[in-house]
Amino acid sequence: MDLGIRGKRGLVCAASKGLGRGCAEALAEAGVDLVINSRTEADITRTAREIAAKHGVNVTPVAADITTEEGRAAVLAAVGQADILVTNAGGPPPGDWRDWNRDDFIRAIDANMLSAIALMQALVPPMMERGWGRVVNITSQSVRSPIAVLGLSNTARTGLTGFVAGMSRQVAGSGVCVNNILPGIHATDRADSLDKGVSDKQGISMDEARRQRQAGIPTGTYGTPEDFGATCAFLCSQQARFIVGQNILLDGGALNVTI
Ligand code: NAP
Repeated sequence: MDLGIRGKRGLVCAASKGLGRGCAEALAEAGVDLVINSRTEADITRTAREIAAKHGVNVTPVAADITTEEGRAAVLAAVGQADILVTNAGGPPPGDWRDWNRDDFIRAIDANMLSAIALMQALVPPMMERGWGRVVNITSQSVRSPIAVLGLSNTARTGLTGFVAGMSRQVAGSGVCVNNILPGIHATDRADSLDKGVSDKQGISMDEARRQRQAGIPTGTYGTPEDFGATCAFLCSQQARFIVGQNILLDGGALNVTI
């Protein structure tokens, strides 16, 4: 399917690997010129080179921490104007709700709620003026069904979801569609580190921890960054113009709900 976005300009945050990279690859395949970001200079530079060579689009790397004001300023300076924005950042650490203090909550809210909001505040008004835009926020299945050890994630991402629910309806009339994708378990480094948490806690091997977690997914497998990127690219397509303020759960059916 031609997504109708060849020649558009996009920003994908936290994209040297994992789900962000999956989104960047799929958008590049659709012909979108990109600015991509992550903190480690060597990784983001290599990723940009690889994506540009594979898909024949322009890809500009920006090494910066997207959860800081200075980091966002550097990324926004490189982007100028964007037609497509994919927000993403590393997830908060697991832990116990009794242990988190105010600083822990502020860090999580900064990273997984306020950073995405600041990027939308910077890039969506010019999209509205031009009459076209797409925003995808990478959140988590924890928005639909809390994950006990990821209480910081549950809290921050639910706040972002509430913001998007209201804001997306205010900008849709100007041709800008804002939606969230909620990843269930995908095979990335983040999934490995959560597998390791299970392995350490239960004193079982990594393979056993993965088998246990896969057994809870009707597909019997983890998702991949490619699966995830394809959905993201579709939400950024011309065809997605009637999808507004939605929370698209990509979890292989793991969440046992009717709607
Ligand atoms: P990942 O494989 O660990 O990749 C994270 C990417 O983000 C890397 O490119 C990393 O590069 C970059 N990054 C991390 N912190 C950053 C920051 N402050 N500023 C800029 N770039 C940053 O993680 P993932 O699995 O793709 O997860 C992406 C998001 O989805 C996370 O928030 C995660 O919690 C959430 N999620 C993932 C899953 C899953 O199963 N994979 C499930 C639910 C939710 P640098 O380290 O070099 O910056």
